Amino acid sequence: MSQLQGLTHFRRKTRNVMVGSVGIGSNFPISIQSMTNTDTRNVQATVNQIIALTDAGCEIIRLAVPDQEAAEALKKIIPQSPIPVVADIHFDYRLALAAISSGVSKVRINPGNIGSEARIAEVVAAAKYSNVPIRIGVNGGSLEKEILQKYGGVTGQGIVESAMTHIAMLEAHQFENTIVALKSSDIRLTYEAYNILAKECDYPFHIGLTEAGTVFRGTIKSSMAMGALLLNGYGDTMRISLTGDPINEIKVGKEILKSLDLRDFGIKFVSCPTCGRCQLNLEKIANALEGKLEGVNKNITVAVMGCAVNGPGEAKEADIGIAGGKDSALLFKKGEIVGKYSEEEIVDVLYEEIMKL
Ligand code: SF4
Repeated sequence: MSQLQGLTHFRRKTRNVMVGSVGIGSNFPISIQSMTNTDTRNVQATVNQIIALTDAGCEIIRLAVPDQEAAEALKKIIPQSPIPVVADIHFDYRLALAAISSGVSKVRINPGNIGSEARIAEVVAAAKYSNVPIRIGVNGGSLEKEILQKYGGVTGQGIVESAMTHIAMLEAHQFENTIVALKSSDIRLTYEAYNILAKECDYPFHIGLTEAGTVFRGTIKSSMAMGALLLNGYGDTMRISLTGDPINEIKVGKEILKSLDLRDFGIKFVSCPTCGRCQLNLEKIANALEGKLEGVNKNITVAVMGCAVNGPGEAKEADIGIAGGKDSALLFKKGEIVGKYSEEEIVDVLYEEIMKL
């Protein structure tokens, strides 16, 4: 076993929290979630987006609940949602109460931001009664003034201190059905904060890099941050934040977990960058094959390689693969050469053979 495989199998031991039918914690697979960007009050548009996200592989969906109308709309949305619905609430405890009575499976709210002890007690009582977990989400961009002063700005230790304060408020009411997120748009800060918090508690971690950016830059930043955390064994549910269509968040999240061998989400692709030795249009072949296989849910590795230098090695390691030659390619299956095909026919041949596996 390689060192990397050894690392990926390590997972921080946590308590387990149920979000509707989805378990969050070290006894369960790392789940993928996203957030709708429709107006929650527009029931039809929100339900349509939840269904599209579910079809793409989303397992938990969070909705912004900015007012009572949105909290009421949840009553119509939740019965039509195939996956557990989470209410995202800032400051207003009445919205948390309304969302819980509308049937949400989790509430994201920071107890330190909702005011008096009596209000915290009321939200906790409702959450306990309905068996709804609370997700504390500390954001580096909105740390309490006293913490900023104490640490001279945003630091990992400061983010953790804020989280521990919120956790203590819930624990004071004997509430431990909690998930914690520490978010920042800074990779190092995020990494540092989770590492510190991991030593302080055993609540499951919701991980993500907030405000990561547009699809290209956000994917790179998120992948670095999530990769570092996941290889350390941290992360029980993950939301990738990208500006634009949230379907991209699911695609990226699945690819991250698949790349680290933490979840099976269909085919793993290996393809070479090509170089002066390549004598066929490998880019066209790789793209055409990836497109044809989108949505095919087989737990296999496919290698598309340009020449005889590294091609046979990678193709043999994979379940199926090709090593390019002049306008043609050798086809490998389970480590054996099974034929030679022209550039024109290779995509169809690969597809047919993959579907037989
Ligand atoms: Fe170049 Fe061959 Fe390596 Fe592809 S497999 S990068 S074509 S040497």
